Amino acid sequence: MNLDTDITYLKGVGPQRASLLKTKGISTVEDLLYYMPFRYEDRSNVKPIAKLAPGETATVVVTISGTQLFRSRQRAARLFEVRAMDESGRPLVCKWFRGDYLQSILRQGQRVAFYGKVEWDSYSQELSLFHPEYEILDDESEANLHLGRIVPIYEAAGRLNTRVLRSFVHRALDALREYADPLPESLRRRLGLPLLDQALLETHFPPPGSDLAPLNAFRTPAQFRLIFEEFFYLECGLALKRRKARSADGIAFGLVDSARRQIKRILPFKPTAAQKRVLKDIATDMSHPAPMNRLLQGDVGSGKTIVAVEAAVIALENDYQVAVMAPTEILATQHYLYFKHLLEPVGYVVVCLTGSLTSREKTKLKRMVAEGVAHVVIGTHALISKDVEFRNLGLIVVDEQQRFGVMQRLDLLRKGKHPDVLVMTATPIPRTLALTLYGDLDVSTIDELPPGRRPIVTQQARQSEAARVYRFVRREVEAGRQAYVVCPMIEESETKAVQAAQEVFAHLSKIVFPDLKVGLLHGRLKTPEKEAVMEGFNNGEVQIMVSTTVVEVGVDVPNATVMVVEQAEGFGLAQLHQLRGRVGRGAEQSYCILLTGRLSDIAKQRISTLVKTQDGLRIADTDLQLRGPGEFFGTRQSGLPAFRVANLVRDRETLGIARSEATAYIENPSSEKEMRRLVTHIRERWQRRYGLVQVG
Ligand code: ADP
Ligand code: MG
Repeated sequence: MNLDTDITYLKGVGPQRASLLKTKGISTVEDLLYYMPFRYEDRSNVKPIAKLAPGETATVVVTISGTQLFRSRQRAARLFEVRAMDESGRPLVCKWFRGDYLQSILRQGQRVAFYGKVEWDSYSQELSLFHPEYEILDDESEANLHLGRIVPIYEAAGRLNTRVLRSFVHRALDALREYADPLPESLRRRLGLPLLDQALLETHFPPPGSDLAPLNAFRTPAQFRLIFEEFFYLECGLALKRRKARSADGIAFGLVDSARRQIKRILPFKPTAAQKRVLKDIATDMSHPAPMNRLLQGDVGSGKTIVAVEAAVIALENDYQVAVMAPTEILATQHYLYFKHLLEPVGYVVVCLTGSLTSREKTKLKRMVAEGVAHVVIGTHALISKDVEFRNLGLIVVDEQQRFGVMQRLDLLRKGKHPDVLVMTATPIPRTLALTLYGDLDVSTIDELPPGRRPIVTQQARQSEAARVYRFVRREVEAGRQAYVVCPMIEESETKAVQAAQEVFAHLSKIVFPDLKVGLLHGRLKTPEKEAVMEGFNNGEVQIMVSTTVVEVGVDVPNATVMVVEQAEGFGLAQLHQLRGRVGRGAEQSYCILLTGRLSDIAKQRISTLVKTQDGLRIADTDLQLRGPGEFFGTRQSGLPAFRVANLVRDRETLGIARSEATAYIENPSSEKEMRRLVTHIRERWQRRYGLVQVG
């Protein structure tokens, strides 16, 4: 048996069990061995009941002498009790609240291992275990696998429970013949990593005397090796990709004086130190012949746009064109207004290419782009798929890159000489994660807000208090400010979201604020209507803007000081943070009011995080923890691999180590032969998982 052997060759695995295993992605022996325990239990401390002391955590092996369900009208008070006995002759009681479901599982006469904290129930004067873990010992043949040691606990695969899986893994490890370790020997030795077979063995079956805590933290040398390895291959793939990108043929922009002068002329304010620093990174990249691939990170409102404008000027003064891409038409329009306002007075032609233009207009604009009459072209991400020809494209700016698929498609625009690429995002992602997520991008971060910003006062109010909240909105508007009212997210249907916004708009404009100017913005409006509302809000004519989440990113109106989010419990944390970022952009005190209905526990945590902090990184961190990496990054569309052993949140530090080791190794492999072996290994075993990695 070797790693590639089909799982059906394993003793005990027939077609039925194989199909259950398949639901967990297990079809080969290797898949099974990389099906990791999610925790461990110390059953080395198996004690006779007579020797148990209250307060200790222990395992007992007992026979069930009786069970009982205490019914009650309240579900929470339904108590399930198991009475058990072992050879020592002392009784033990196990109790579960809401334990009805156990009735069909634990029955009289069964041999069971219970694991938990021992307590003295002073009411009934008995030794008890509350909510212990249990494992039914129906088959004593491999008993020493399941008792008297630290045992791995696996997530069940349908009817295949942890015990069955444990036996399978053990059999597979037993039957496996020797196999080569794919990690470079030099690296393995230097880092003191155990061999692969040993690492797998000890991860599933920790040797006697192991400590439970590091195992459950996934920090033992064996576990570290497997986690490190998984990150290492990914990072090697990324490093190779980076190397390839760097050797491509790009443009070396001159950092000419005319660019400096133009930038000085257009800057409406003094840049912050952080803005200066990132512009320097960008200018340096641009001056090099290799194509720039840089990610510009910065919390909402940190002032990324002006940095993009400055970079654009460098390209423009070198006689190249600039493309700016945004995820929505509304944001594209916003950028169009911003760029035009700054760049047209100094002689550049800025155009906006969006889907809702008439085909005559489109043809005309495309011709301007192809002939080089238009210098800056702004549009949605569709710009790349459309047949837009540039005369001389030098720089691409991609804004609000939360949807990760764009990078791959960018290659379409990179025929001939590679233009430089600047990607901007407001989703703060911890640095090492960003480096991995964005693969071959270099990262710069604006970690400072423009001066004079005051923290936004964030409050939660119940939906039933809406009238009071609207009175507050009126006071602000009457003092000359503007407000947003954002309507609930409706995942399944944009139509429904638009309807909800229309209803709120009707209510507010007719009943609550009949004397004020209320506008409505949503994704279904025609472009001229959208532009009219945006323009109206920009110049202060529209005082209250009701909208769907289309304002989530990018809209920039410093006079707006109130953000009311209706049914805020339906929004994600990052999204609420983005929404809040629409206010607090001027010198006036701003407010964010989250109107909520019934709150689930997780929604409660989201809302209270938002009320407590404004630090985008902390918010992203909480979000990551509440949702888990898969959902946080939207794994499928992010192109992020599904890790088997590693966990992006738990193993962040290891990711950092793997990244620097991989970079160093690719730069300077111990031998060509070893390097070739590694590349082959990654290509054969890991390419499939890490679709984003094009190796070599
Ligand atoms: P984001 O990073 O969210 O895209 P923007 O680029 O929209 O942020 O900038 C937010 C607001 O801050 C804008 O109104 C912008 O004009 C203003 N701003 C940016 N940089 C500065 C600065 N250095 N001083 C003063 N205001 C600034
Ligand atoms: Mg922005």
